[in-house]
Amino acid sequence: MNIDYQLLSPQQRRSEPLAKDTDLGFGLLRTDHIFLMDYQNGEWINARIVPYQNLQLAPGAMALHYGQSIFEGAKAFLHQDNEIYTFRLDKNCERLNQSAEILSMPSLDVDMQLQAINALLDVERLWMPTATGASMYIRPFMFATDDSLSVKPSNSYTFAVMLSPSGAYYAKGMSKSLKLLITQQYHRAVSGGTGAAKAAGNYAASLRAQQHASSVGADQVLYLDASNQYLEEVGAMNHFHITRSGELVIPEFTDTILKSITSQSILSLTNELKSLLDLTPVQKKISIKQFLADVQSGEITEAGGFGTAAVTASVGHYILDNGEHYTVGNGEIGEKTQKLCQYYSELQQGKQAAPNNWLVRVERIN
Ligand SMILES: *Cc1c(COP(=O)(O)O)cnc(C)c1O
Repeated sequence: MNIDYQLLSPQQRRSEPLAKDTDLGFGLLRTDHIFLMDYQNGEWINARIVPYQNLQLAPGAMALHYGQSIFEGAKAFLHQDNEIYTFRLDKNCERLNQSAEILSMPSLDVDMQLQAINALLDVERLWMPTATGASMYIRPFMFATDDSLSVKPSNSYTFAVMLSPSGAYYAKGMSKSLKLLITQQYHRAVSGGTGAAKAAGNYAASLRAQQHASSVGADQVLYLDASNQYLEEVGAMNHFHITRSGELVIPEFTDTILKSITSQSILSLTNELKSLLDLTPVQKKISIKQFLADVQSGEITEAGGFGTAAVTASVGHYILDNGEHYTVGNGEIGEKTQKLCQYYSELQQGKQAAPNNWLVRVERIN
């Protein structure tokens, strides 16, 4: 794939590395450039890196009306050798294609996605955060661009990649455990729907439930399946819990759960988690009734969420629609949860041995 570079002049773009003490926040900053590519007549064309700018879009662009819009979220890290490494980026590229299939959108060769993202990271080296725990958040996305009011898959699309230098999610260590609302009032996904896709519309549909959670003093929603019997996920994180016997349990992936790459990674680190934390990762179908009984009895000792943004979040409390309240352990941040977060972060930062090909160095092209 040939990429056309239309870069800002040296005077117009960042000319020195980000200072270590820059307060980055999460997802707030943009870099100087964006990668764009168009899909027309069955082909991906016009791969280009251009200044970050507003997009040209027809008012009738189908993404705006009928929601053919998907995205990914990944991270790259600056290692001690001063090189940039992406973490399991190929998994994100594969998942973008799975989302594309669910939304009847075209796939984009994984190698082309990787080339696009690596080229952009290479151009934006000076934007790479340098503080410990900080990262470059990578946001690939694809949306329908046909100017059409009829409901059908669009013929044209844009694939884009933008970057956001981001600070450590827990700059001062995990500060508090979350309170989740377990509700029967709202559902994130139904079988046969789009729950397993990283689709923009899934997030739009979650906002009302999130607002409801906030109004009852909860941080986020823990969704149940449509029959209100099984525990699913947290909307932007997969859920997990840890039992007294050291099982780390993640709900079985169904077509109503987004297959978190963090969860999948944890599930494949069996030996490491056993030897370091005495944890055995497993997947199970989890009945909400049993889950709450086990929280109450103390059989479940810790709980939390997995996702790229935070790596792990700790959950200390659950509330139900009727106001009933359940506390996990003493309600504080779980000890193993915190160690797990630390270990996984060090793996990403190159301070712990990672499995082959999880970390890939960004080539210097320019
Ligand atoms: C992105 C996302 C996650 C987390 O997945 P990771 O690959 O670990 O970042 C979990 N649930 C939903 C609904 C998501 O969109």
